[in-house]
Amino acid sequence: MICCEGMENAMNYEIMVKTEKYKVRDGRVLNDIETEYFIRSGEESGVFNYVGINFCPFCGKPLSRGLWFAEKKK
Ligand SMILES: [Zn+2]
Repeated sequence: MICCEGMENAMNYEIMVKTEKYKVRDGRVLNDIETEYFIRSGEESGVFNYVGINFCPFCGKPLSRGLWFAEKKK
C-alpha cells in the first residue's frame, strides 16, 4: 500500500523501503518496532541504517502492522 505521493517518491528513490525486518541484508535496523516500513539512510562502508516507522512521515497515515494489530484489539 502506498498512501500518498510523498511516499511513492521516497520509495522510488529507496529512501523509504517496505520489507520485512529479517529480510534486511544490506544494513541494520536501529529500532525495534513491529513494522514493514523503514527509512533507509546513507550507507557507511557498505552498511545502510534502517529505522522502522509507524506512520507515514508525509501524510501521517498509520503504516505498521503493529498499529493495525493494536487497533484490532480495541
Ligand atoms: Zn503517506
